[in-house]
Amino acid sequence: MEIKVTKASSDQLKAKPTDESKLGFGDLLTDHMFLMNYEAGKGWFDPRIEPFHDLQINPAAMVLHYGQEVFEGLKAYRGKDGRINLFRPAKNFERLNRSARRLCMPEVDTDLVMEGMKQLILLDKEWVPHSPGTSLYIRPTMVATEPHLGVRPAQSHLFYIIIGPVGAYYKEGLNPVRIYVEDFFVRAAVGGTGEAKTSGNYAASLLAAEEAKEKGFTQVLWLDAKERKYVEEVGTMNMFFLIDDEVITAPLTGTILPGVTRESVIRLVTDWGLRVSERSLAIDEVVQAAKDGRLKEAFGTGTAAVISPVGQITYMGQNFVVAGGKMGDLSQRLYDEIVAIQYRQKPDPYGWVEMID
Ligand SMILES: *Cc1c(COP(=O)(O)O)cnc(C)c1O
Repeated sequence: MEIKVTKASSDQLKAKPTDESKLGFGDLLTDHMFLMNYEAGKGWFDPRIEPFHDLQINPAAMVLHYGQEVFEGLKAYRGKDGRINLFRPAKNFERLNRSARRLCMPEVDTDLVMEGMKQLILLDKEWVPHSPGTSLYIRPTMVATEPHLGVRPAQSHLFYIIIGPVGAYYKEGLNPVRIYVEDFFVRAAVGGTGEAKTSGNYAASLLAAEEAKEKGFTQVLWLDAKERKYVEEVGTMNMFFLIDDEVITAPLTGTILPGVTRESVIRLVTDWGLRVSERSLAIDEVVQAAKDGRLKEAFGTGTAAVISPVGQITYMGQNFVVAGGKMGDLSQRLYDEIVAIQYRQKPDPYGWVEMID
């Protein structure tokens, strides 16, 4: 399928950020977007790149009522040579299709959307920032557009990709964050939609996150929905704990998002000869390890922040300082390694990096 390109006229072009050190996350979007439509019986059609614009949507569009939506998040990085690359992008589109299946939405042709994404980035490549730590965030999104009041899978959908320059994800930068172990609200149950990147999961998480924020915490650490006993993940990151010499992360049982960064971290620490376990980890085990001084590190992993070290964990009113409230050695090593691969400062033995220009 050919991708039709309509370029923005000069008066449609937006002002680019002048100071890259002030880039935030998720506020700026570039001059163009990729779109395509789907109709049942016809499939996907009309893949195109257009000047960035608002969507016109019927007030009865099913996404607005029944939440049929899936999305992705990945980044394009600019190396020192000025060339642009992606990090394991196929993983994101495979996951998008898994999320879509879970939400009864149509799968996309991953080659086509990858091509559309690359063309979009190249068209707006002046927007890809140059400073260390900055990147171009990419947000592929699918929404149910069929106007219909009544719960059933929609017959028409829109897929689009929007992109924008971003700085470091956390205001604190790499300073360790304080996390609140949520003992009442839950994020996802076995059999639910926890492993899909779909809007409803995030809407459902807001109240707990707001209450935690009011108490001074950066993130909520979710426990399993059934027993409120096992650690799962935080807001938009998977979680790892280093207890003694074992690196532990929750298993993929359907309740957590199977992160690309999570998988990359597992691969790296395995290759570094550390013991990695994808296993159920009770919060009581974390607390006991913290009390005994055996909880060496805890960190979140995700595209936005890469590695986010945890400096304090609060559970049932008890505070535990992790790694002296500093970034631990393993967290730092992982961060350095992944960032070096992403910005092509180091050889990429895994074939994770994909050049686009
Ligand atoms: C996106 C996301 C992650 C991280 O996934 P990456 O592929 O590593 O970016 C983890 N948990 C949740 C809930 C997410 O939405």
